[in-house]
Amino acid sequence: MAVERTLSIIKPDAVAKNVIGKIYSRFETNGLKIVASRMAWLSEREAGGFYAVHKERPFFKDLVSFMSSGPVMIQVLEGENAIAKNRELMGATDPKKADKGTIRADFADSIDANAVHGSDGPDTAKVEIAYFFPALNVF
Ligand code: UDP
Repeated sequence: MAVERTLSIIKPDAVAKNVIGKIYSRFETNGLKIVASRMAWLSEREAGGFYAVHKERPFFKDLVSFMSSGPVMIQVLEGENAIAKNRELMGATDPKKADKGTIRADFADSIDANAVHGSDGPDTAKVEIAYFFPALNVF
C-alpha cells in the first residue's frame, strides 16, 4: 500500500452542526493525518469550479448554491491508502444508504447536504488538492 494524499471537505451542513472536531477525530483514529487545512466560505464561482465535472448534472445548481451557503473546512489527508480509506469513512453519497458508523450515516441529513466530500481517485485527488492548496503542488 502506498502513502497517498486526498482532498476532504467538511460541507456547510456539518460545519453548522459544530462537528468538525468529531469528524477530524475519525480521520485521526483511522490513520489519516491532516497535513493542510483551511476554513473558507466559497463563492458560487469557486464551488462551481470545484464541481465543474458535474456541471451537466441536474443537481449542479443546487449543489453549487449549497456549497456556498456557509463556511466549509477543507483539508488534505495523508496516509496509507488515504483515498479509499477516506471514502470508506465517509460512507455512501446518500446517507440513507451509508453503512452504520460512517460519517454520512452519523452526521448527514440528505443526499444534497451530506456532510463531507472526498476525492474519488488519484487523478481527482491531485487536481482537487491543487485547486485549494496550490502551494502543496510544489514538491
Ligand atoms: N449530489 C446531489 N444529488 C445527487 C447526487 C449527488 O446533490 O443526486 C451531490 C452530493 O452532495 C454529492 C455531490 O453531489 O456529494 C457529488 O456527487 P458524487 O456522485 O461525486 O458523490 P460523492 O463522491 O460526494 O459521494
